[in-house]
Amino acid sequence: MGVRDRIRLTTIEKVIERKLSTSKESNPYENAMKQLESTASIIKLDPDVHEMLRYPKRILSVSLPVRMDNGHVKNFQGYRVQFNDARGPFKGGIRYHPNVTLDEVKALATWMTWKCSVVDIPYGGAKGGVICDPKNMSMAEKEAVTRRYTAMIADFIGPYRDVPAPDVYTDSQTMSWILDTYSQIKGYQVPEVVTGKPIALGGSEGRNNSTARGCIICAREAAKELNIPLKGATAAIQGYGNAGSWSAVFLQELGVKVVAASDSSGAIYSKNGLDSAQTLRHKEKTGSVKGLQGTEEIDAEKLLELDVDILIPAALENSITADNAGNVKAKIISEAANGPTTPEADKVLERNKVLVVPDILANAGGVTVSYLEWVQNLNRQHWAEEQVNAQLEQKMVSAFNAAYQTSKKYNVAMRSGALAIAIQRVADAIKLLGIWP
Ligand code: NAD
Repeated sequence: MGVRDRIRLTTIEKVIERKLSTSKESNPYENAMKQLESTASIIKLDPDVHEMLRYPKRILSVSLPVRMDNGHVKNFQGYRVQFNDARGPFKGGIRYHPNVTLDEVKALATWMTWKCSVVDIPYGGAKGGVICDPKNMSMAEKEAVTRRYTAMIADFIGPYRDVPAPDVYTDSQTMSWILDTYSQIKGYQVPEVVTGKPIALGGSEGRNNSTARGCIICAREAAKELNIPLKGATAAIQGYGNAGSWSAVFLQELGVKVVAASDSSGAIYSKNGLDSAQTLRHKEKTGSVKGLQGTEEIDAEKLLELDVDILIPAALENSITADNAGNVKAKIISEAANGPTTPEADKVLERNKVLVVPDILANAGGVTVSYLEWVQNLNRQHWAEEQVNAQLEQKMVSAFNAAYQTSKKYNVAMRSGALAIAIQRVADAIKLLGIWP
């Protein structure tokens, strides 16, 4: 397990804790529907299509009896929500966590639908979840839950139906078990039933850093729109895990000076810029970015308010809030994390003319390379990393431009622009398909 993986697990816990504290106030599915509501009024969505988009197409609720290591049977509850497949097979990750709820899975399935649509890949959106505590389960118990869950949803997934992927507390090993279980049921090997697989089982080159790559492509395009030269520009990164540390690498390649980085234990600053490789090595050795030679320690909250050109939130939800949004000096925020900016903060940032590339676009590099993995599998091919990256680049640039232009067309922030184009594409597909019977 590399440092990026180890760090990931700690953050995921924090993200979930944060989510729980906010979920008491807000139901995630209601939030997703409110977002649909406001976008519907921007694009003047056909009321009939709107009515259809209020409900997931299919909700599977499954009971998973598993014989635990102590010899007794324990039942786990699992879900798979298939929100909409008008644009192509359902696509979305599977989450293992004690606090999974059906409404959360429904919301995540809705957002997956918009995310796949905004980057214009031919997928619908879905999400899966199993209520379990993987931190307190053995490998054998996790494998048993995964295989039973797969068996229970096997009739509803498949390369042309619904293609799962990893999410919180699931990984390439989980995908390998799903692939094997599904293939044993079918009687032949079906690698294209899941993405996020290990390379040895048909995984794609470039998948491990695709989210960060996509996020920095968005930041680069945003800088172009604002006429900010990247050579010599400055950036700060909140969260030095998978997405954050790779973002540092790609920013550095563009000539951007990453002057600050943080993780769960603190934040560091150097006006001369941090070397991405050295920072990662230090984190690998000590478990934190703190104490890196030639840097000074700064308040982690203050990192978000530094006078930099680009800010990459790559850690938690709800980091930029009404309390600190007014102090943000960055001109561009490219959201590697899911939901780092609250709706109240969005309003402040818009007023202050900060260009926020929203999460559904800025972190869609991951699902885009998942799509490329599926295409390779369906064609029994394995592409070189350069080929994968070239396609990711093309898809991200055209998605960025489409969302940016849409935001200009409706005179709204880029988040609304991205949602507008995504929901419009799904609506167009629904209208063309009609209703049968
Ligand atoms: P990760 O666990 O690898 O890294 C997260 C980093 O955030 C860690 O360095 C952790 O120490 C740090 N962190 C935790 N609390 C912090 C705090 N209070 N202040 C500053 N840093 C803190 O996770 P990741 O895979 O890089 O994901 C990060 C975000 O990106 C999440 O919101 C995730 O949902 C989103 N995302 C990731 C991917 C992907 O492919 N990795 C895809 C889509 C979205």
